[in-house]
Amino acid sequence: MEVRVDTFSRSYESNTFWLSARKNAVVDLGSVMTAKQLPLDEACCIILTHLHYDHTAALDGLKLSGKTVVMMHEADAKAIGTSASAAHFFGARAPKFRVDTVLTDGAEIDLGDSTLRVIHTPGHTPGSICLYEVQSKSLFSGDTVFPYGSIGRTDLPGGSSRDLIRSISRLVTLDVSVLYPGHGEVTANNVNEQIKQSLKLAKAAEGPE
Ligand SMILES: [Zn+2]
Ligand SMILES: [Zn+2]
Repeated sequence: MEVRVDTFSRSYESNTFWLSARKNAVVDLGSVMTAKQLPLDEACCIILTHLHYDHTAALDGLKLSGKTVVMMHEADAKAIGTSASAAHFFGARAPKFRVDTVLTDGAEIDLGDSTLRVIHTPGHTPGSICLYEVQSKSLFSGDTVFPYGSIGRTDLPGGSSRDLIRSISRLVTLDVSVLYPGHGEVTANNVNEQIKQSLKLAKAAEGPE
């Protein structure tokens, strides 16, 4: 699996990743401009790490051939079109789109010559997911963890700092070589340690019991 980063510098859009495998996949699609530049018909699926506007806005009104399916965790899929998208923070209306495949924890997305494992990581939103590819030890972390020990905010609708701690506790059990975050740069620099730092920060943010 090869990963291309398709993102534009406008800070209110998330990273979009194009995964080249026997079956191509897209992770997150916040930018209409990015969507226009990608051969979406050549992707088997568009996988959304969570519902937030900056990751999903380009899905609104997007015409997809029947071959390209949209995937999202059930807990966020059921909140499509509501304020849970945080669209109002971007001065926009909640994107409306159809989810073809509802994801659950442990689901596997088959890309022909590689497989993405779905890890349900609530905290930033109830239906946030991370995607782990075993062969390359890649983690697509959405807004759950960011490089250098940063973490996703938990003060938006459906956020939970306790859930975030539990979710990052699961991520530290993985062996990750490359981190593909929802925002910021891709990093391959001692990623396991970076995720441990994120867990520390999440626990510190939560404060003593
Ligand atoms: Zn985001
Ligand atoms: Zn978000």
